[in-house]
Amino acid sequence: KVLLNSQVYELKQSDIDVTVTTTDGRSYKAKYLIMAIPLPLQMKLHYDPPLPPLRNQLIQRTPVGCVIKANVYYKKPFWRAKGFNGFLACRDGQLVLGNVLDDCRDNLPLAAVTVFVFADHAIKMQGLSKEERMKIIAQDLAKAYGCDEGLQPVHYEEKNWLGEQYSGGCYVSTYPPGVLSRYGRTIRKPFNLVYFGGTETATSWPGYMNGAVQAGERAAREVLHALGHISYSSIWKEEPEIKEVPAKPFQLSFIERHPPSFRTIISFIGLSTVGCISATCFLLYRYLYKP
Ligand SMILES: Cc1cc2nc3c(=O)[nH]c(=O)nc-3n(C[C@H](O)[C@H](O)[C@H](O)COP(=O)(O)OP(=O)(O)OC[C@H]3O[C@@H](n4cnc5c(N)ncnc54)[C@H](O)[C@@H]3O)c2cc1C
Repeated sequence: KVLLNSQVYELKQSDIDVTVTTTDGRSYKAKYLIMAIPLPLQMKLHYDPPLPPLRNQLIQRTPVGCVIKANVYYKKPFWRAKGFNGFLACRDGQLVLGNVLDDCRDNLPLAAVTVFVFADHAIKMQGLSKEERMKIIAQDLAKAYGCDEGLQPVHYEEKNWLGEQYSGGCYVSTYPPGVLSRYGRTIRKPFNLVYFGGTETATSWPGYMNGAVQAGERAAREVLHALGHISYSSIWKEEPEIKEVPAKPFQLSFIERHPPSFRTIISFIGLSTVGCISATCFLLYRYLYKP
């Protein structure tokens, strides 16, 4: 049973049950709970008892990416006339387009491309209106396909995922360097009667639908085990549990550990140049001036 518009803001646990309360004041009690909301959004909840220290730290360290997704509609799929399938993957930093896909459908009278604007480009576009974003995207489509028809969209839809309160961004929360090696073991560790699903906790395809399904099934098996219905080994029977990978230190050379400062390099070049000129002058003097 899926309850829409039910934002949980409080999670209380006793020794025998878990209670969640939603912003409209309703409460739901259960023997166990599977938490499957994105990691950083778990910070929005008040926990009683408080989260374990490492989990409390982990969820502060997994930012969600920045993506704007847009659909640009045209009268005709003009790119096909040029022999293009519509797919673009732009990484030169010049165009705002990240990935573009042909999204024409038989049941739609208009042609369409789906555009993903990633990272810094998505951040820079936040200050613009929807119309301004459409104009820039259309200009870049025209440039990338080499067709002026790209400048004439007839309709535009977009989802600015950066503003989504209950996703936090797009596509998924990420683990910056050092997070997995320090907090990796905490990601799926149960918190009393609470178990953790969500795509970020998957052992394969984290960040994708496949990962979300895999993690949900594994969390469900964990609860079945806690209820005494299945053995512990059955929890991981579908996929092997990932063993801990110890963090390996980088091997740095002497020069990497003690890199000279810019000032030292300039002084070295300056002194060497003066030294060379002085030595050359001295040798020339000795050679040319023979008393
Ligand atoms: C634009 C976009 C395109 C994508 N394309 C692909 C693709 O092509 N292929 C692919 O495999 N994956 C794709 N993904 C990723 C995929 O959507 C996710 O990996 C997947 O949805 C994660 O599932 P989940 O159940 O872990 O989390 P979510 O789908 O994020 O579900 C979490 C749910 O928790 C709810 N929630 C959050 N906070 C609370 C709260 N306090 N109380 C109650 N509910 C709360 C949210 O509203 C949401 O419904 C895409 C994602 C995006 C955003």
